[in-house]
Amino acid sequence: MKWFACELHTHTVHSDGSQTLQELATGARKLGFEAIALTDHNTMSGLIDKEEVQRESGLIVISGMEWTTFYGHMVTIGINSFADWRQTDKDSIDQGIAAVHRSGGLAGLAHPFRIGSPACTGCYWEYDIKDWSAVDYIEVWSGTFAPIQISNHRAFALWTEKLNERFRVAATSGRDWHSQTKTEEPLSVTYLGVPEDAVPTERQLVEALRCGRVSVTIGPLLELEVELDGECIGIGGVIPHEKANQALNLRIKLDFSVRAESWSLPDQGSPEQRIKVRSDQRIEAECFTNDEATLYEMTVLGGEKKWLRAELWGSVHGVSTLIAFTNAIYFD
Ligand SMILES: [Zn+2]
Ligand SMILES: [Zn+2]
Repeated sequence: MKWFACELHTHTVHSDGSQTLQELATGARKLGFEAIALTDHNTMSGLIDKEEVQRESGLIVISGMEWTTFYGHMVTIGINSFADWRQTDKDSIDQGIAAVHRSGGLAGLAHPFRIGSPACTGCYWEYDIKDWSAVDYIEVWSGTFAPIQISNHRAFALWTEKLNERFRVAATSGRDWHSQTKTEEPLSVTYLGVPEDAVPTERQLVEALRCGRVSVTIGPLLELEVELDGECIGIGGVIPHEKANQALNLRIKLDFSVRAESWSLPDQGSPEQRIKVRSDQRIEAECFTNDEATLYEMTVLGGEKKWLRAELWGSVHGVSTLIAFTNAIYFD
């Protein structure tokens, strides 16, 4: 698997951003991103410059739009055409999600627990979703230094709850990036995984998100694989029911070389940094990391589980926090 550094939630002067797509792409490139999704509020007009910006910046620009309504914000990416938000009311977001899918795109809850009106009208998610199997992703980390924000803790808990209910929903980060104002706060990155031999395209990245091949971090890239009878099941993959009872050999990789110039977590290297493998039932395995090792192997018992994910915990700016997490590997 090859992993691509993506920023999936951005705005330009075509909505309430103060940057052009060109400026956004240049800024993203400097920060080591390889792809961005443009998700202006209720408009796709900023994409008129997409081809030119892709050519000049070398960045992949994913077509998107943020549905911006009184009942919630919904990020939609990979769309081929405009999907109209105006027909949906509080009880009919399911039809709205279906319209996004008909436009070739994916739909995700944007910052679902950010404070709503009057601070930010519609920012808090109030839509009543009837069919969670249609929801493609939840933006569980929104903004900068995302993992320490209470509203993101709630979004992360919602994602875990949906995994526990056996929905195969992905989890992403999004800066909700509006301007080129500099920040010292850690930025989160959504890594999307494409097959090793593939030439990355917008479609490939959207497909990666659809399949849950996603790893999110404010630091190193975290990967998780399960080795089963010589076969390797990666993030977003499914462990077949008939094999779920055997002991599972896990390989967890930490890659500190990604976007090497663009981030640092000053407190790291402390003995407190640790990897946890979590399931719907418990913390299945845990180990401290050290400066040299990038590969950690663990064995966990199989059995009646619903999902597994890896998490990296540590101290950042004096706060004990989640630093990175993988999306789930599912049990059939
Ligand atoms: Zn929003
Ligand atoms: Zn936004």
